[in-house]
Amino acid sequence: MTGLIRARVERAALQANLRTIRACAPASRVMAVVKANAYGHGLLSTALALAEADAFAVARLEEGVALREAGVRRPVVLLEGVLDARQLAEAARLELDLVVHQELQIALLEAFRGPPRLALWLKVDTGMNRLGFRPQEFRGAWQRLRRLQPESSRLRVLTHLAGADEEDGSYTAEQLGRLQPLIAGLDVELSIANSAGILAQPQALAAWVRPGLALYGVSPFAGRLGSQFGLRAAMTLESTVIAVREVAAGERVGYGGTWRAPRRSRLAIVAAGYGDGLLRSLPSGAPVLIGARRAPLAGRVSMDMIALDVTDLPPVSVGDRAELWGTGLPVEELAAAARTIPYELLCAVSQRVPIELV
Ligand SMILES: *Cc1c(COP(=O)(O)O)cnc(C)c1O
Repeated sequence: MTGLIRARVERAALQANLRTIRACAPASRVMAVVKANAYGHGLLSTALALAEADAFAVARLEEGVALREAGVRRPVVLLEGVLDARQLAEAARLELDLVVHQELQIALLEAFRGPPRLALWLKVDTGMNRLGFRPQEFRGAWQRLRRLQPESSRLRVLTHLAGADEEDGSYTAEQLGRLQPLIAGLDVELSIANSAGILAQPQALAAWVRPGLALYGVSPFAGRLGSQFGLRAAMTLESTVIAVREVAAGERVGYGGTWRAPRRSRLAIVAAGYGDGLLRSLPSGAPVLIGARRAPLAGRVSMDMIALDVTDLPPVSVGDRAELWGTGLPVEELAAAARTIPYELLCAVSQRVPIELV
């Protein structure tokens, strides 16, 4: 056994999820979103496992550089684009495609020496109100970029949905309604849908789709599991029982004593804490798997460990494996217990946790 905690990532699950996404969007090319260390799954190993994707998307330049240095030759899109001439030169050297979402970026491109070979993704803000040109700015931005990138297939349009996971698709319809008149008559490749859009908003499918969470087998919808969409959890976060002890009724456990033994209790101490990325907001009662059985968290998550109430489980021994989430315990469920979204749990997995691609 090397190390107590690890994130086991199943290559076959990543690949199966890519196929499932392709089946949902059969006419689209897939830009696999691997930003934030591939949502905690490991940037390089995930990109290698997903070599069949048509392109990769990352948020930042450094992530794109890491992909190129690892030998990834597929198109790589920088979703936030670049901010200065030095970054632009680096992106151009490595042939990283750029999202262009503000005037400053057009000016950088215009000042750049030599025509960019990169594909440019003009980002329109149709209602997220974070990044992107407003609809009334679209024409002007398009014309300036057209001069920089005359090859029609290399100037594309992208927008991002703010509520694709909502039961009521009316905000998505509103966003699509703002996009439609801008691109009418243009021969242009479009990209609109993230995971939720791919799974629930077929009207948002276009030449390109941009799945992140779904690739990792996880549902972007509150109250639903990836498995309900035919997806397979790619990551299992597992650790080890490092001590077993008994406490008397009434004894308090952990920092702050937020949990008191309601009866004589057996506790298993597992090497997993917020230093590994486990959220401290997970409350007592949140489940962890030991063997095939669920044991409730007892007291606060510490930096390096948690306590589980295993009184009702068959005997637990030092060295036993514990699953924090994964194939046996959906990360969606743990996220709900922590009152957050599975994205946050996955991205929080820290440097201390080795990733094992199996
Ligand atoms: C992160 C991101 C995605 C992927 O979103 P998921 O909900 O994980 O599928 C797609 N597009 C953009 C612009 C993003 O920033």
